[in-house]
Amino acid sequence: MLQTGLMMNRPLLISAVIEHAAAQYRDVEVVSRETHGPLFRYTYADCAKGARKLANALAGLGLAPGDVVGSIAWNNHRHLEAYYGVSGSGMVIHTCNPRLHPQQLIYIINHAGQKAMLFDATFAPLIKGIAPHCPSVKHWICLSDAAHMPAIEGIDPLIGYDALTAPCSDDFTWPEFDENTAAALCYTSGTTGHPKGVLYSHRAIVLEAMAGCMPNVLAVSCRDTILPVVPMFHINAWCIPYGAPMSGAKLVLPGPRLDGESLYTLMEDEKVTISAGVPSIWQGLLAYVEQNQLRFSTMRRTGVGGSAMPQALIARFADEYQVEVRHGWGMTETTAVATMGTLTPRDLALPREQQHAIVARQGKSVFGVDIKVVDEAGATVPRDGSTQGELMVRGPWIVRDYFKGERSPLQGGWFPTGDIATIDAQGTMQIRDRTKDVIKSGGEWISSIDLESAAVAHPAVAMAAVIGVKHPKWDERPLMFIAPKPGQTVDKEELLAFLADRVAKWWLPDDVVFVDSLPVGGTGKVQKEELRKTHGGVFR
Ligand code: AMP
Repeated sequence: MLQTGLMMNRPLLISAVIEHAAAQYRDVEVVSRETHGPLFRYTYADCAKGARKLANALAGLGLAPGDVVGSIAWNNHRHLEAYYGVSGSGMVIHTCNPRLHPQQLIYIINHAGQKAMLFDATFAPLIKGIAPHCPSVKHWICLSDAAHMPAIEGIDPLIGYDALTAPCSDDFTWPEFDENTAAALCYTSGTTGHPKGVLYSHRAIVLEAMAGCMPNVLAVSCRDTILPVVPMFHINAWCIPYGAPMSGAKLVLPGPRLDGESLYTLMEDEKVTISAGVPSIWQGLLAYVEQNQLRFSTMRRTGVGGSAMPQALIARFADEYQVEVRHGWGMTETTAVATMGTLTPRDLALPREQQHAIVARQGKSVFGVDIKVVDEAGATVPRDGSTQGELMVRGPWIVRDYFKGERSPLQGGWFPTGDIATIDAQGTMQIRDRTKDVIKSGGEWISSIDLESAAVAHPAVAMAAVIGVKHPKWDERPLMFIAPKPGQTVDKEELLAFLADRVAKWWLPDDVVFVDSLPVGGTGKVQKEELRKTHGGVFR
């Protein structure tokens, strides 16, 4: 007969994270880029006070546990206080992606039944447009001091965050409740149909934040300074705003300035050791560093995910700048990181190029997450690194049901990700494609991701995207789009010859379209839908 363990059953709550930082790392700094430009700095002890003040302020507005409070904001200290003040009070912070189409924003705000909205001044024009269509939102709060408040016609009163919280007490007793209580809400970007809401629990976030700090994941400790470029409005900035205070790491929040120069300067000035973001950010950063012949003096590693990190970029970071890339995979439905790789001693014995090839895969599952790949009949395929199928995941921070969803997305207790992947004998997972992006040619699959990564290795190529275009004989054939680096050119024949050395001959694109830039969506991914609309005809 099983026995019950005799340990305390203390709930895993988000309020405990900031209070831990305030108590154990009280003087560790949080540095934040204000929306109007300058840097703001204070400590975890101050941040905890700010979160408690906000909790008092929200209660003063009549908001109650269970209410949904939205945010449309950059990575900054007021947003950080909201992460704790809102969730810590038992309310739900709904992080809205400002890059969504306004109609989608209106849809998600209404769907969430949001009562208040916290937003950065940058988004004042957006707020002006959507506010009349969001009747449930009674309080519009601009994350600003008095001097930088915008005027928004039609919103009266427009509340200023500093004016609201300044008079409030910094004494607040965080309520204790079940750790499965909802803490945060984030909607998928929804390329087809309406966005779907993922409602994260306190437990899921706390566990995921702990997992994210582990040595094989981002390896965050109190000796680090971490700069999350990944936005706080998208999958919880990979839980770094929770993991950093948990570990006592100095936290640097870049605000709206995400260009290569601003990031580099911030990294150097604040002695950043770890960063995290999507590949396009690192492309911008490297371009700046290369053009200006700069070096990183403190940066040691960077977490990358959201879309595939090309091997060529991994190699440049590692070989030329001694910055280790930790390449991971996750989705809105997985709270943050579900897989991430770091090289094992066995990998480190391999030649450098093979090491980079391993990093270019999406890594091992983080402890707590189970992964498997299944075929069309739902049977698990072998872990041989080549048999591909749909990636399935399960774990304590993986979605079970969508918010107000009619039917659980789960299949036999696993979440079907819609990603096509392989897993090798060492457990390393590799994303080959999205189910909807994969190209089927003559009955065989061509990986658009592999083709894109191969093209980006060309020195004149900044970005590449591949879509499948209907073909009378082969069913589908790849069409490649290339955005060259500024001031550089590359011709089609040369590019195809370059690719021919790197991919199977039958994978070579049937045509290459050169463009100035590629359409990039709200979460940093190339909008292949747009490319299909303009170029998705039929090859002859
Ligand atoms: P989102 O929910 O917007 O974060 O998008 C999640 C999707 O991004 C995943 O299902 C993948 O298709 C894609 N994705 C995330 N990380 C990676 C990665 N490292 N490589 C390739 N695709 C990725």
